Amino acid sequence: MSDTKAILDDLGLRSTNSGACTGAWITPTGGGEVVSVNPTTGEPIASVIEADAEAYEQVVATAAESFFEWRMMPAPARGEIVRELGNELRKVKEPLGRLVTLEMGKILSEGLGEVQEMIDMCDFAVGLSRQLYGPTMMSERPRHRMYEQWHPLGVVGIISAFNFPVAVWSWNAALAAVCGDTMVWKPSSSTPLTAVAVQNICNTVMERHGLHGIFNLTIGPGSVVGERMINDPRVPLVSFTGSTGMGRHVSEACAKRFGRSILELGGNNAILVEPDANLDLALRAILFAAVGTAGQRCTSLRRLFLHSSIADEMVARLVKAYGSITIGDPLSSGILMGPLVNEGAIRDYEKALVKVREQGGEIICGGKRIDRPGFFVEPTIVRLSEQIPIACDETFAPILYVLTYDDLGEAIRVHNSVQQGLSSAVFTSSMYSAERFLSHEGSDCGIANVNIGTSGAEIGGAFGGEKETGGGREAGSDAWKTYMRRQTCTINWSTALPLAQGVSFDVE
Ligand code: NAD
Repeated sequence: MSDTKAILDDLGLRSTNSGACTGAWITPTGGGEVVSVNPTTGEPIASVIEADAEAYEQVVATAAESFFEWRMMPAPARGEIVRELGNELRKVKEPLGRLVTLEMGKILSEGLGEVQEMIDMCDFAVGLSRQLYGPTMMSERPRHRMYEQWHPLGVVGIISAFNFPVAVWSWNAALAAVCGDTMVWKPSSSTPLTAVAVQNICNTVMERHGLHGIFNLTIGPGSVVGERMINDPRVPLVSFTGSTGMGRHVSEACAKRFGRSILELGGNNAILVEPDANLDLALRAILFAAVGTAGQRCTSLRRLFLHSSIADEMVARLVKAYGSITIGDPLSSGILMGPLVNEGAIRDYEKALVKVREQGGEIICGGKRIDRPGFFVEPTIVRLSEQIPIACDETFAPILYVLTYDDLGEAIRVHNSVQQGLSSAVFTSSMYSAERFLSHEGSDCGIANVNIGTSGAEIGGAFGGEKETGGGREAGSDAWKTYMRRQTCTINWSTALPLAQGVSFDVE
């Protein structure tokens, strides 16, 4: 508990915190109180007064007003502020990483990794602030110049999931900030304290520059804050990370008002292991992807396709390795798997395993809740003779379905037959198999790897997936374009007025 207090103190958190901020903290009067629970012990850590409708209104109105000033600041100057944000994050990497672990339950090296990802995103965005390019085109009309430019969009709503409580915010926030947008963040109610801590860091940086209303926060129920945000015409873009079911609702609400959405939804990720694969490498990658974060990553490995010639050997090695996974307090060194996020997640795990049995799957390892405080389960391996319906759903828990195949083309077909399309990988030393997996007839996912597991993406690439994963892209590459509006400009510097396509419209 003293460890908990030290973490909270280091980050300026109290036992009760406000859940609404525009730079200055607002104390909502009509909201409830959300208690953040440590999933390792089931005990409360601290609480947050939730934003009510009035607080939401105040926050969005401030974000909309602040946009007018922020959008006129040169992008490289905005980049300098994001650089400072990255530097502040460097200073608090240790306590913030610990808080991520404390509140969400991922092991400490992953908690620290999440903060590193925020720092990396800030660095990326600083560079990007000088590279928000638009192309120049050759006009078909004489003495005309044509080009594209990008303008800031407005207020960006960021709704994030519990499992990446801070990194996903930074994918959006660092880009939105250099693009000239202001933003309002609605984090998951399972991880409100990390959001308050991050807002404190933003406030420190913005106060130095006499700015407010750029990075804003509203912590509150999805049914109050989330609903208002997705239906709010003052929010032209909602970036939503969460389950496919909720994403569908968000997408419909935004589309109805011609708002934009970025959807980062559920995955059902798979690895294919070819007979010529380096099996030692594959084993390590499978373990991290399937058991890491207790199976609570959108990119977690859910389905493993093993070539029949190596299947029995790999299954035996996997079962042995699962036996040596250290499970416990994720803040302790040497622990590889922490708890699930809450009691509801345990129920989902248990329900999925009931369906496994009903649908003919064989649980060959794990399969039970662990009898200790908090929300711990055994990492589980299920062997299947065919892909059963429950293996086509995303269960946010460490359940790995193992299937066997003889032909790579057939394995790719089954791999692609699920509704989700986030992350995928093949393990092989054959250039033919690798290229086939990456080709038009290969993986249909947004992420396709060779000799690398499904989880643990770098920020330099655009992150996201296809089909029911939502089609959104965030973080690197040209993901920034969604946070801006494109304008095509044509300038006539002649004294004539030629029309495009040779159309004539001359008045006598
Ligand atoms: P969730 O769908 O339960 O919640 C996501 C967010 O939606 C939360 O902030 C929640 O409060 C909010 N919300 C709830 N009701 C709402 C409403 N009516 N309107 C607007 N927002 C509302 O998801 P979760 O359990 O927090 O996270 C796990 C899910 O997120 C998994 O499906 C996982 O695959 C997905 N995920 C996807 C990615 C990705 O990049 N593709 C990354 C992380 C997590």
